[in-house]
Amino acid sequence: MLLKVESLTKDYVTRFGGRAVHALRGVDFAVGQGEYVAVMGESGSGKTTLLTLLAALERPTDGRILLDGTDMASIPGRALAAFRRDRLGFIFQDCNLLDTLSLRENILFPLVLAGKQEQEMKNRLALLTERLGISSLLDKYPYEVSGGERQRAAAARALITRPMLLLADEPTGALDSGSASQLLGLLDAYNQNDGQTIVMVTHSLDAASHASRVLFIRDGQIADEISRGELSREAFYPRLAGRLTALRQGGERLA
Ligand code: ADP
Ligand code: MG
Repeated sequence: MLLKVESLTKDYVTRFGGRAVHALRGVDFAVGQGEYVAVMGESGSGKTTLLTLLAALERPTDGRILLDGTDMASIPGRALAAFRRDRLGFIFQDCNLLDTLSLRENILFPLVLAGKQEQEMKNRLALLTERLGISSLLDKYPYEVSGGERQRAAAARALITRPMLLLADEPTGALDSGSASQLLGLLDAYNQNDGQTIVMVTHSLDAASHASRVLFIRDGQIADEISRGELSREAFYPRLAGRLTALRQGGERLA
């Protein structure tokens, strides 16, 4: 397994002695090389917390995350940035491109940090931006292009290091439906043609229907799981919707 998550918990303790928030309460799952896994759940269910821990941006309260056999907790703080840069790619809802850099500079940023050769950087940039349909926009600044184009540039920045694992948090959350399906189609292509492993958290059924497996998170725990199998995306969508409804109703009965 490329990624193993074991008994993961995360408590947030607010300042001034407020009550602790149990954002994750023992999450277990594994993701194989080349899989495309979506984690669905309502607002506040713990999706972003999970992704933040997978991204090693925060440490768990308890439990373990193993990426390609390496326990993330064993990596000293000073080595985390390099670990993250070499192995992980991120796409967030608000794409986090730097406004003072052109799209080209934004996309190349992680490679510059990694000290890659200029020729290799140029080659990777040309290939990626061609596939993502943003080659003609590279000299523009983030505020000069559309939201969909910005998010495709963010995808290019995430993929240019050829990450072992691509992490996405509501990547289509701020996009119109046309730009959203374009971005999701591009991620599908990287998954299917290049074997890119993807973990995406989302509350969107449409986005989740692109994955090969969907985990449902509720109150910080994995409550259900469904695989797409041989189903088309169109056939998978109503099944996902059905599970989600059942999960909500189950939750209300328990409450
Ligand atoms: P989601 O992404 O599914 O909407 P989150 O992971 O953002 O959910 O949040 C899960 C729970 O943890 C929520 O109750 C949220 O208020 C809380 N939470 C998230 N981040 C923090 C934080 N930095 N400090 C305190 N509580 C937080
Ligand atoms: Mg969130």
